[in-house]
Amino acid sequence: MDKQALYNIIEENAGIITALSDKIWDFAELSMEEYQSAEYYCKLLGQEGFTVQRQLCDIPTAFSGSFGSGSPRIGILGEFDALSGLSQVPGSAQRQCGVEGGNGQGCGHNLLGAASFGAALAIKKAMEAGQLHGTVIFYGCPGEEGCAGKTFMARDGMFRDLDAALTWHPGDTNEIKVGASAACIQVEYTFHGTAAHAANDPFNGRSALDAVELMHVGVQFLREHMPPNSSIHYSITDGGGVSPNVVQSGAKTIFMVRGETVRKAKALLQRVDNIAKGAALMTDTTFTFRQIDGTASTLGNQVLEQVMYDNLCQTPIPTYTQQEREFAHALHATYPPELPGDLVKVNPTVRAFVQRETDGGKRDINDFILPYYPSTAYSPGSTDVGDVSWLTPTAQFTTATWVSASPGHSWQNVSIGRTSIAHKGMLQAAKVLAGTAADLMENPALLAKARAEFQEAAAEGYDCPIGPELIPAPQNSGSM
Ligand SMILES: [Zn+2]
Ligand SMILES: [Zn+2]
Repeated sequence: MDKQALYNIIEENAGIITALSDKIWDFAELSMEEYQSAEYYCKLLGQEGFTVQRQLCDIPTAFSGSFGSGSPRIGILGEFDALSGLSQVPGSAQRQCGVEGGNGQGCGHNLLGAASFGAALAIKKAMEAGQLHGTVIFYGCPGEEGCAGKTFMARDGMFRDLDAALTWHPGDTNEIKVGASAACIQVEYTFHGTAAHAANDPFNGRSALDAVELMHVGVQFLREHMPPNSSIHYSITDGGGVSPNVVQSGAKTIFMVRGETVRKAKALLQRVDNIAKGAALMTDTTFTFRQIDGTASTLGNQVLEQVMYDNLCQTPIPTYTQQEREFAHALHATYPPELPGDLVKVNPTVRAFVQRETDGGKRDINDFILPYYPSTAYSPGSTDVGDVSWLTPTAQFTTATWVSASPGHSWQNVSIGRTSIAHKGMLQAAKVLAGTAADLMENPALLAKARAEFQEAAAEGYDCPIGPELIPAPQNSGSM
């Protein structure tokens, strides 16, 4: 279909999409507590004529809005959760807290969900006009930051029936996301000991804090002997108390264990578990273990990526006013300049291109498109989009909603996330998503090719990183 007609639908609905994004920015709700955000989305989807399903997989803030029938079935993924401690006055080029102790959209998920919604809306309207046929489904995926909501949805049967899943993420560049990301399993160890007066009768005490410390020492010695592309991070979330004159009877530590695949992450976790047993033996304590969440590695799909890239190139790049450029410049000056983008890390040709385009990272807004090079390069972070990518062909991209090389999960991203600069990047993303979805709906051969690539890449099958009993819980130990 005529892409311009799709873009026009998005422009005509820019007010609704922008208001949605700003509303989610205002709510700034943490993982699995996004009640107001989910309610706003469900109401809007209903008003716009989508069939709404609330509380998907028994998760209170997971939902979907679908339209149409039959195949192809194209899923568009949206996120909307915020991060704690990042409240910020919007449009300010200085760190200025908005609400004391409040949350902020430091990862731009207000924009993420709103652009995905905008794309689904455009596809729906094109279907109503008889221009496209099939089913479009917007997925409201909660808790990306704190507990990998998509993994729970994937475990419980979502996404398998799709012909393709499309998503994007706010960023500082216009580029296709390529390569693989790590599988990650997040677990908590709680050690149980015996309290005692630290001076009078320490011999009667058994220190849970000692166990945590010994476990950490053991894990540090493990690092030399881990497989390549593995990593382990930790945080002591409960040291037992603030009084040194007590033998601490309870202490908690959280670990994130990453590997190239879920199988490798699980094998490494087994060794961490052995270290916990050793620490408990050494200190005469016991421990209980709780999994918090997990994500699978990401499988790229080069057939989808190429379609997405073609659409990224067809979509007009936003232009910026003098005032927008001045704000971007002031925000850019709050951290040292660096080369932007993901591809620069793995592809020397792209690196040289970006070096030239940005004058070594000095450009404030990256209003150009990075070339696309298919790659299976491994990146050490994790995302719950990975779980979707093991169930259906999946592709992702970024648009420049942020200032160049803006730090992740930062006040700078919160600040810009409710400005016209971010809105422009968001609407551009909606157009890329809608254009890609339209191409896939019109060309069954493309979907068949994407499926063939997926079947080969995912031949070993989806190894879900979380157990069958695990329930997603509100908690915010940080992003994947
Ligand atoms: Zn994030
Ligand atoms: Zn994010």
